[in-house]
Amino acid sequence: MSNMNHIRADFPILTQEIHGRPLVYLDNAATTQKPQDVVNSIVEFYSTSNSNIHRGVHSLSEEASGAYEGARAKVQQFIHAADPGEIIFTRGTTESINLVAASFGEAFIEEGDEIIITEMEHHSNVVPWQNLCYRKGAVLKVVPFRDDGTLAVDQLGLLFSVKTKLLCLTYVSNVLGEINPVRQIIDLAHAHDVPVLIDGAQAVQHLAVDVQDLDCEFFAFSGHKMYAATGIGVLYGKQRWLEAMPPYQRGGGMIKKVGFEETTYGELPLKFEAGTPHIAGAVSLAAAIDYIQRIGWDNIAAREEDVLHYAIQQLETLDGVTLYGSTKRRCGAVTLNLADMHPYDVGMILDKMGIAVRTGTLCAGPVMQHYGISGALRASFAVYNTREEVDRLMMGLQKARQVLAG
Ligand code: PMP
Repeated sequence: MSNMNHIRADFPILTQEIHGRPLVYLDNAATTQKPQDVVNSIVEFYSTSNSNIHRGVHSLSEEASGAYEGARAKVQQFIHAADPGEIIFTRGTTESINLVAASFGEAFIEEGDEIIITEMEHHSNVVPWQNLCYRKGAVLKVVPFRDDGTLAVDQLGLLFSVKTKLLCLTYVSNVLGEINPVRQIIDLAHAHDVPVLIDGAQAVQHLAVDVQDLDCEFFAFSGHKMYAATGIGVLYGKQRWLEAMPPYQRGGGMIKKVGFEETTYGELPLKFEAGTPHIAGAVSLAAAIDYIQRIGWDNIAAREEDVLHYAIQQLETLDGVTLYGSTKRRCGAVTLNLADMHPYDVGMILDKMGIAVRTGTLCAGPVMQHYGISGALRASFAVYNTREEVDRLMMGLQKARQVLAG
């Protein structure tokens, strides 16, 4: 078990200086840094086991296949899926959602059907559905959220109709940090016979997820936001839905038999994994899961909650600050604006002080529209962040205010 005091030492990049100041990395909702174990797993894979999978009888190919399928089994256990066939490796959350929009959309969405999303979705959980509705002549309905960042669940009940074919929502908002009551919402959707896709991109690194307990039909997430490599992600789907859906892409690896007259497709999960996948990425995801499990959810939650709530408390004392989303059921991120200062200008000044935050629309245009703003500044936290880093952020924001006001 990693000693909590030594967690920072597990992340080599955190010892860097930026513009001559120690790095304060608060852009974890965009992507987390990688622990040495994850970096090592990639080096080790390419140094000792690299080969293509599933197609060779030679030893290296078997080794690589074993590592890849071992990673799948680890993901299955991590989110408590019933079967490894329900774990599809993708490039990330965006591709996982696009897979469902393309494949579920092809099979089950017809003209006049309805898909429900929420006003607090990341663009990756808006645009694929918008486009599917456009292509099929279907209707996109949107559940609003309240100014305090909570979803208007009471209004969701009114949106279901016999034409509703799918509900898609985020577990945790990447802007507000709001943790949606997904369990309750999934039950509500099921009462209307509607399957549910959960965007878990901002959940899996902060909360233990059990897809059987949630009972969602689909669950999407990215490896790079939970300490693994970029370019690897997961789509969980209930077996009976994945079996009923056509392949997303077609090519090598996903077929049973190819003939010019007829081609038949392989079983789950390979039916959805055409072409050579990101094998080293999957290996890194397994290493990231090992890392998270070594630290333990209780330790992760205790540390992250302490730093996030300290940050909110401190930020609330800043003159002219607006914090978006104020509920207590939140994790991971805090988003703000400072009086009428442009978030880009504030972000640039913070960068000069070695502090990395995200600025702009945060890929959530509808959330920006809700608050009538063109952008905001987000500080987001991972297990290695500290109260001292929050103090550095506060100093940076005070400095930015001085510079921009003067
Ligand atoms: N959904 C949410 C809630 C996110 O925060 C993100 C990443 N910012 C995504 C989807 C897209 O993830 P990726 O870019 O890894 O596909």
